[in-house]
Amino acid sequence: MQISKGSIKRIVVFGPQGSGKGTQAEMISQDLNLPWIATGNIYRQHIQEQTELGKIAEQYIKEGKLVPDDITNKLVAERLKERDAHKGFIFDGYPRNIDQAKIFSDMVKIDAVLEIAISDEEAISRISGRRVCPCGVSYHIMNNPPKKEGLCDKCGESLIHREDDTEPVIKERLAIYHHDTEPVLDMYLKQGILIRINGEQSIADVHKEIFLKLNNEGFAKK
Ligand code: AMP
Repeated sequence: MQISKGSIKRIVVFGPQGSGKGTQAEMISQDLNLPWIATGNIYRQHIQEQTELGKIAEQYIKEGKLVPDDITNKLVAERLKERDAHKGFIFDGYPRNIDQAKIFSDMVKIDAVLEIAISDEEAISRISGRRVCPCGVSYHIMNNPPKKEGLCDKCGESLIHREDDTEPVIKERLAIYHHDTEPVLDMYLKQGILIRINGEQSIADVHKEIFLKLNNEGFAKK
C-alpha cells in the first residue's frame, strides 16, 4: 500500500490512549519514509536513561498528568531542528492542548491531522493488554501479540507494561484527552485539515482508511 509520495509531509496523529495511534503513526512513517516523532516515547527514553529531563517527566507521567508545556515545547523545538525532521514528520502525542498547538503552529505548518477515534470503553479494554518496547513499538497481548512472548519483534528488547496503563491512570488520561486535547481537534477542523478515522477496526483496516483518506481528500495534491 502506498500513500502518494512527495505530497503530504507534515502529519500529526491524534487519538485517545489505546486508539492505536502509535502503531498507525509508525506505519505511516514507514510508508512515507518520514520520522515518527512521539513525545511520549522521547520521554520514556529519557526516563530509561535517567537523564535530568527523565527524572522530572517521570513524576508527571506515572500519574497520567501532562508534563508542563514549557518543557514539552522546548523538547519539540529541539527535535524539529534535527536534520531528519526537515523533510517532514509524523507527530504523535503532540500538541496535546491549545497552548501547545499555538506554539506548534508558530514552529511549522501542518499538512494533515488524523484523528483515530474510539470510545472510552474500547480504550480502557484495549489499554490493559498493552505492552510496549522502549524502542517505541506497541503490542497487545490478545490483538497484536509479538512473535515471541514478552519480546519486541523489531529489536528483541523485553516488553514493558507501562505504569500509566492501569485503569485509574487511564481514566485520568482519557479525561485530559477530552478536556484539553479535543479542543485542538476543533481548531484543526476549522482549518480544514482534520481527517477522522474509525479506530474501532483491525490495524490493517485503520491503516487502509488512513491511506484512502489521505489520498482522496485532496491532501495528496498539496
Ligand atoms: P503517550 O505515550 O503519548 O500517551 O505519552 C505518555 C505521557 O507522556 C503522557 O501521559 C504525558 O505525561 C507525557 N507526554 C507526552 N506527550 C506530551 C505532551 N505533548 N505534553 C505533555 N505531556 C506529554
